[in-house]
Amino acid sequence: MTSDKLKKTDKVKEASRAPATKKSKSNSKSSSKSKSKPKSKASKSMGTSDERFAALTYVGQNSLDLLLVVDETGKVTYANPITLTTFGVSHEEGIGTDAFKYLHPDDVERVFMRFVELIQTPSGSIRDTVRTITANGEIREIELVSTNALDNAAVAGIIVNGRDITEQTKYVKQLEALEERFRLAFEDNMAPMIFTDLNDRVFAANDAFCTMIGFTREEVLGQNSTPFTYPEDIGITEDSLQRILRGEVGHSRYVKRYVRKDGRLIYVEVLRSPARDEDGNILYNVISERDITDERTLAAELSHQALHDTLTGLSNRALFNDRLEQAHAKIARDGGQFAVLLLDLDDFKGVNDSLGHLAGDQLLKLVARRLEKVTRATDTLCRFGGDEFLYLAEGLRAPADAQLTATRLLDALTESFFVSGTQVEQHASIGVTVSDVTTSETTDFVQNADVALYEAKREGKGRSVLFTPSMHQQAVDRFELVRELRQALHSGDLKMHYQPIIDLATTEIVGFEALMRWHHPVRGWVPPNVFIPAAEQSDLILDLGYFALREAVAAASSWRQSVDQAKDLYVSVNLSARQFHDPGLVSIIETVLADHQLTRDQLIIEITESVMLLNVSETMNVMEQLSRLGIFFAVDDFGTGFSSLSYLALLQPKIIKVDQSFVSPSFENPRNDALLEAIISLGHKLNMTMLAEGIETSAQLERLRSFGCELGQGFLWSAAIANDDVPAMLKRGWT
Ligand code: C2E
Ligand code: MG
Ligand code: MG
Repeated sequence: MTSDKLKKTDKVKEASRAPATKKSKSNSKSSSKSKSKPKSKASKSMGTSDERFAALTYVGQNSLDLLLVVDETGKVTYANPITLTTFGVSHEEGIGTDAFKYLHPDDVERVFMRFVELIQTPSGSIRDTVRTITANGEIREIELVSTNALDNAAVAGIIVNGRDITEQTKYVKQLEALEERFRLAFEDNMAPMIFTDLNDRVFAANDAFCTMIGFTREEVLGQNSTPFTYPEDIGITEDSLQRILRGEVGHSRYVKRYVRKDGRLIYVEVLRSPARDEDGNILYNVISERDITDERTLAAELSHQALHDTLTGLSNRALFNDRLEQAHAKIARDGGQFAVLLLDLDDFKGVNDSLGHLAGDQLLKLVARRLEKVTRATDTLCRFGGDEFLYLAEGLRAPADAQLTATRLLDALTESFFVSGTQVEQHASIGVTVSDVTTSETTDFVQNADVALYEAKREGKGRSVLFTPSMHQQAVDRFELVRELRQALHSGDLKMHYQPIIDLATTEIVGFEALMRWHHPVRGWVPPNVFIPAAEQSDLILDLGYFALREAVAAASSWRQSVDQAKDLYVSVNLSARQFHDPGLVSIIETVLADHQLTRDQLIIEITESVMLLNVSETMNVMEQLSRLGIFFAVDDFGTGFSSLSYLALLQPKIIKVDQSFVSPSFENPRNDALLEAIISLGHKLNMTMLAEGIETSAQLERLRSFGCELGQGFLWSAAIANDDVPAMLKRGWT
């Protein structure tokens, strides 16, 4: 570097050290003034430059670019109007000044070094971007090309052609900042996001996405989503892309499933939006997702809960009604038939009361599982509530199919259940109704099945009955009947009558069976076979039962007081299943006996064979409690239920009442004497007293005598008589 140039460097440095404030500018101006040519001289040189720069200035005058010429010392010899405007200086202020003083201090050294190189390179040129400071202190970025035209006689200087790129740079910087913000928004976004190309291949995936699906970014990039998508949902993804590409939708929102790397299935909500260029062409897809697995699971649980019974997990009424409505609409449209079956557990209350509600719940669950096993895929099984289940059988070929379905359900309950370590027999009754296009309300189907169910119960439980329209009127009548029966209980229209029980050997009266009689003011005598089953459908049966018990015990007590022959008489009272399973039973019996000072061996409790065998462990439990009190019981209607000799031996009833169908066999159902004889001898082997019901003829009496049957009752002696007539009968007797 020459000493001249060094001098220049110092000069430039000195200039550049001056801060680019207005004040310093004026300082530097004054200092540069002192070093530059006087104004007049500058004007004078302008005069000569007009000729020298004729061509150049012509261009510069109207150019949008900055154009200036500096001499080898950096002094400005020409500046076009836009340059002067950019720097905020007048022509006088600008020409003749040191160009370096307009440079940003940080750029001075570098620019000067390059300037030195340039002036040593004839015709050479350099390209640079420099920061300058205008008169009002503004920093402007100038892109420039400096050309050495020192050798050019016309110019004899360095031509600096510049362009103010301040705004452009600012814009680029803003864009960069925006991109950075966007990058951060993408990469750090909590929402899983991916960018895919037009083939849906992933070219960017954020951390949240990788975490969500459990694959690394490397594993994800370059793939389309197929390898991660649940196979069934690949179509959804492709469809959404195609619809956007075809321009059918602006963006699309859908739910799909991914299979995570760990194999877990997740649900995601996807928002796919295309990024477009200015002409609207799709460049790539911006896909943002949301893991909704938990929400889905919760929603699924909630909807499951809304449509299912929490105890058994079976469908509930709401779901059943829905299916029923669909089935109804389907047959109206396409024809065909369906059936509604209402299944009610027989005497379930007994299990609940004796083994507790937990055991009851457990039994319900077991029953549900058994029924579920025999439920066809096209059918619907639901828990209707309590111990009732509904079954919708669809696609029947014939009404008879409905009966087959009922049998299948009943058969499923044949085997014993084990609940809380106890063996429980749980049978059921079913009411069946077959679809009918004339039925407009779906609720009617359930109602009809309910009516048929009642018939099934009335006919002895453990069976199914098909609804017939006539049953409907019967149901209405029954409802009315129960209402009136309730009134009768209080009005005195309900009375107990007593049928003598005879020692067949001596024909002495040994006791009376209390039988309920209802004299209806309009209907006249209503048989117990009609009103007892009706009452059994409600709690009314308990009131009736205890009424019978109190009346009978009171009656027996009064006979003993008024008639000598009544000293050893017993009274036999029928108990319904509901009553037998009533937890209050034992204490009520105790109280009633105490109230009337009747000894315990003077009361016999009758329960039917079917009630006894329905739940053997429960029966044993009640019987043990009763025998501890010294009360015996009789098995009523023996031979009509599902006899099991082993149970009979276990339960040890005192008396077996052989059903009248064995005593006076009907023509259609002949039972021979051998059967009757066998039953009687069997009872004797088990140490039980045998009683024959329904003896109407002397011939029957003789046969029974010959078989060794001890007791009997029947019209041969007397039907049931009013309480007031008992003392006379006792006194009269038959001996
Ligand atoms: P059950 O306990 O087997 O009563 C015997 C039934 O046979 C009685 O019918 C009686 O009148 C009838 N009977 C007696 N001897 C003869 C005969 O020689 N020939 C014929 N054909 N029948 C005879 P009833 O009084 O109509 O009672 C029917 C059923 O109603 C009873 O059968 C019993 O299960 C029930 N019932 C009657 N009173 C009560 C009661 O107070 N409580 C309960 N829970 N049930 C009762
Ligand atoms: Mg009886
Ligand atoms: Mg009987």
